[in-house]
Amino acid sequence: MRDYDGTELGDVEDAASFAAVPDAFQRLWTPYRIAYIKANSEQEPTGDDCPFCTAPTLSDEQALIVHRGTHAYVLLNLFPYNSGHVLVCPYRHVATYDEATDEEVAEIGRLTQVAMRVLTETAQCHGFNIGMNQGRIAGAGVAEHLHQHIVPRWALDSNFFPIVAGTKAVPRLLGEVREEIANAWPAA
Ligand SMILES: [Zn+2]
Repeated sequence: MRDYDGTELGDVEDAASFAAVPDAFQRLWTPYRIAYIKANSEQEPTGDDCPFCTAPTLSDEQALIVHRGTHAYVLLNLFPYNSGHVLVCPYRHVATYDEATDEEVAEIGRLTQVAMRVLTETAQCHGFNIGMNQGRIAGAGVAEHLHQHIVPRWALDSNFFPIVAGTKAVPRLLGEVREEIANAWPAA
């Protein structure tokens, strides 16, 4: 599949190539989305079906984890605002920042700093948006499990797609970005 400007977007399998009854649709396989799909099918995920509790039980590649710390870990957001959009989550299923322990607060802060340095080096970004949405009313997609967004920003990184097509153009594949960030993450 290619973007409007000819950029390769990834492999899409045509239905006719399956040993089954073909239909008109093409499919882009994204098995790592299952944790999010499962979570979104429930109104209030508990620890068992929460995507941020499930992610650390999967492989780094499956869950798009770039670094595992002692009290918190870092993974790519499946719905990135920009390439290199990462989330820092405590392992514990707590909803709000004031519920985090001193150790979790310290490590979330430290991992945020390291993520900024790694993204500055790997993505050559010019700035960041960093923050936590606390509660569904404030925009949290997974309100039940605390997570800090780190969004790299570049000059001219916005375009007209979100306005006219409800679509964000994300120029790089998640697996490729995960590998690059994980490889650049400094050893503890
Ligand atoms: Zn959780």
